[in-house]
Amino acid sequence: MTPIRRIRLGHAPNCSSLGNAVNVLLWSQAAVAALWVAAESWSVRRRRPEPDGGETRASSDPPALVSTSPENGAPHEAHVQVTRNCALPCPSCHIEPEVDGGHVPLAEVAQRFHALAESGVFHVAIGGGEALAHPDLAAIAGAAHGAGLTIGLTTSGVGNLEPAGLFDQVNISFDAEGEGYRRARGYAGAERALAAVRQLATKGGRVGINVVLDRDTFETLSDTVAAAIGAGATDVHLLRLKPVGRAVSDYGTRRLTAEQGMRVWPALVALVDQFPAATFRVDCAMTPFLAAHDVPPERMAAFGWTGCHGGDALIAVDTAGAVSPCSFVPGPVDPAWREGVAEGACESCAWRSLCRGGCHAVAAHLTGRLLVPDPECPRVIAHG
Ligand code: SF4
Ligand code: SF4
Repeated sequence: MTPIRRIRLGHAPNCSSLGNAVNVLLWSQAAVAALWVAAESWSVRRRRPEPDGGETRASSDPPALVSTSPENGAPHEAHVQVTRNCALPCPSCHIEPEVDGGHVPLAEVAQRFHALAESGVFHVAIGGGEALAHPDLAAIAGAAHGAGLTIGLTTSGVGNLEPAGLFDQVNISFDAEGEGYRRARGYAGAERALAAVRQLATKGGRVGINVVLDRDTFETLSDTVAAAIGAGATDVHLLRLKPVGRAVSDYGTRRLTAEQGMRVWPALVALVDQFPAATFRVDCAMTPFLAAHDVPPERMAAFGWTGCHGGDALIAVDTAGAVSPCSFVPGPVDPAWREGVAEGACESCAWRSLCRGGCHAVAAHLTGRLLVPDPECPRVIAHG
C-alpha cells in the first residue's frame, strides 16, 4: 500500500485565498500518527490520480483530502466568482463591485463547475461580490454537488441566508465587534453578521467566520473570536489584508506592522489554547509569519500546507470565466509560481517549498515585481 504523504483537513471555506489548518500544528506526534492510521479507513468520495503515480482522495466524513503524492498535480480548489453584485462599502474588498446586475447565469456557472471537476478540482469556494445577491444561489449549490464538488460560501450575511444552508461550509465576514466592525467594513454590521452566524448554526450548518487582519482588527482578535464562537461559529479563518481593489488606497496605514507580524503565531497559539473546540485556519499569505517562529516545515507539509500555491493548488475563475492563479493576481496561470522565489532571504529558507516567497500580490504592490521575496516577511526584513 502506498503510504499517505499529506492530509489536508476540512473544507476550505474562503473565496479568495487558501486556508491552512492551524490546530494540527500543535498536536502531539501520537495524535498525528493516530490520524494517519485512521485516514486509511475513511470512505472515499472521489479519487484523483496524480502524475507521479500517487493519488489524492477526497473523503466526506471527516471532510479531508488524503494524498499519497508529495505535491499537487493539479489544483484541488477553485475560487469561483458568481457575481460582481454588492452594495456594501467594505474598504478591503478585492474587487470594485457593481450595484446592479453582474450575475453569472446559472447555466454558465454549472458549465464551469463541470469543467473544473473534470480537471481534478475537488472544492469550489464561492464569493463575489455578495453571493447572496445571486438569484440562483440555491441552484448553484446543487450544480456543484451534481458535478461531484463540495462547495463553500463566503458572505457578509447581508441578504437571504436560506440558500446558504445548502453549502458544505459557510463563513461570515466578521472582522471585529461593534465600532471595530464599522471601521473595518465601512458600515455598522457587526450584529447582523453575528445574527447570520447564529441563524446558520441553529440550523445545524457548519459555520465559521473570516477575519481580515489589519493593524486595528488584530488587536481585538480574541474578543472577536469569543463573540463568534458564542454565536455558534466552529471555524475561524484569519486572512492577511491584500493590496488589491479597494484595499490599495489605504494599504500602507492598514496593513499589519512588522511588530504585529511577529505576534501572529503567538496569538494563534493562544487562541487554540483558549478555544480548543474551534478550528483555526490561516490563509496562504500568512505563511511567512509562521516561518518567522520556526514552526516545523515538516509538520506543515504533512498537513498539506499551501503558501503562495496559486495555479497548482488553487485557481480562480472570475465572472467572465477568466482563470488566474488566485483572486488577487490576474491571469493567466504562470508555471513559474511552482518554482517560487529563489533569491534573497527566500533562496535558503527552509519554508521555501511551502511558502514560495510569501504573498506575490503584496510583493507586486510594494515592489512592482511579482516573483520577489515578500517585503513584509519577517525573515526578508531581517535579511535586509
Ligand atoms: S498571491 Fe499567493 S499568497 Fe497571495 S493570496 Fe494569492 S495565492 Fe495566496
Ligand atoms: S524568506 Fe521567503 S520563503 Fe522564507 S518565509 Fe519569508 S517569504 Fe517565505
